[in-house]
Amino acid sequence: MRLTLKNSGTTMSNKAMLRNYINEIRQGNVSAEEALKKAITSAQSLNKKFHFFTTPTYDLAAKQAHDIQHMVQNHREPGTLAGVAVSVKDALCISGIESCAGSAILKGYKPLITATAVTKTINAGGCIIGKTAQDEFGFGGFSVNVGHEFPVPLNPHDTTRSCGGSSGGAACLTAAADFPHVAIAESTGGSIVNPAAFCGVVGLCPTYGRVSRFGLIDYANSLDKIGPVGKNVEDVALALSVMAGHDQNDATSSTLPVEDYAKHATANKIRVGVIKESFGEGSDEAVRENVRAAINKLADAGCKITEVTLPTTYTYGIPSYYLIAMSEASTNLSRYAGILYGASEPLAGGFRDYFSAVRTKHFGTEAKRRILLGTFARMTGWRDQYYTKALQVRQLIIKEYQHAFSTVDVLATPTMPFIAPKFSEIKDMTPLQNYMTDILTVGPNLAGLPHLSVPCAQAKGMPVGLLLTAPHFREDLLFHIGVMHEQA
Ligand code: GLN
Repeated sequence: MRLTLKNSGTTMSNKAMLRNYINEIRQGNVSAEEALKKAITSAQSLNKKFHFFTTPTYDLAAKQAHDIQHMVQNHREPGTLAGVAVSVKDALCISGIESCAGSAILKGYKPLITATAVTKTINAGGCIIGKTAQDEFGFGGFSVNVGHEFPVPLNPHDTTRSCGGSSGGAACLTAAADFPHVAIAESTGGSIVNPAAFCGVVGLCPTYGRVSRFGLIDYANSLDKIGPVGKNVEDVALALSVMAGHDQNDATSSTLPVEDYAKHATANKIRVGVIKESFGEGSDEAVRENVRAAINKLADAGCKITEVTLPTTYTYGIPSYYLIAMSEASTNLSRYAGILYGASEPLAGGFRDYFSAVRTKHFGTEAKRRILLGTFARMTGWRDQYYTKALQVRQLIIKEYQHAFSTVDVLATPTMPFIAPKFSEIKDMTPLQNYMTDILTVGPNLAGLPHLSVPCAQAKGMPVGLLLTAPHFREDLLFHIGVMHEQA
């Protein structure tokens, strides 16, 4: 895809589009106000086709673009993302803007705070064009578990297929956008890389703690990570550099200094470990073949390829992940009682009656399922058998990854076992079949490891993603190998 910037007459390839655009804005060759006007017009018509927004924030973007333009004119520093259209997953709070995490129970909720990742992006010159569609509270992998009257995003490559999830709207818009844009998304068990793979864009889930979670509507606190989605590795690296860093509002955010990720590391011969179990039965053969071909290209580019095995992760990752995620989710959701936030009902009966009436009416089916299962797993009598056991397994999984990283630098697998499914296929899936589709992504999420999905091929006309996982805080390595892959 090529884009012509009106005022400059420059034509750029997709690759350096964002960087060049930012330079043009910063130098005053392109007006941020004009550029955002065009972006908004385009987003409006694309949204009609693909349904990626829960709440567009065009007025906010226009105002921010006006401020950027003013700064440029007055020779003030407009920031490293100056004039870039940014979308934000609905689960991240923006002060004064309806923020529902895709759930009807939060309908009408306008937070008083803005998520730190969003504040940092705005301070760097990003212009927020809207909140993007997602599975309710992140509960799903196809963005179909949406709250009542919330949009289901349609895959821009084939609108009869899912965008993936839960950050489906983020990846959908990123794939469809014909203007400079990055998305802020969030992952608990794969929600950044899954939709990135299904929509043919790049998604980075950072190390747990690399980006502050302050202002995120929690799914599962020990698993949630905020990260960027973009059209290429460089865009994602740039966005992460802006979002990352310690935040005194989030005690789990890391104090490690933030690197300039866009100047990705140079590394010698990278040792890539291909996870044997990820190429097993149960995944689409076309996906496996294409990912193998992409890994072979990395070998041609100088990487040393070996095979590694992660039996514990692949046997117990799914049950461990779902027990922990649902246990944490069920406690997080207890605050939605129709009193402090969002939807409410006429007061009737005692607290229990009221609480039940609100929750029965406004939570979706999957949220209810997770409240029941998560509460059960934490109950006295069952806790040791389920929740505590899952935490122990999580430690074993972390150790297994650490062991793997004693012999390789990066791990490679397909991102998802198949291409984006059709909505008609998803309808026939049982909850368990749904959960099993996360087999390739729950491992790095449980271990808090950074992972990057890059589009590597097309199968049956749909994008296929290659998933690369690195040791904690080695996002630099992922960007390096991601760029190698793009250039191979
Ligand atoms: N599909 C997984 C789940 O439903 C992961 C979703 C996510 O990362 N939010 O929990």
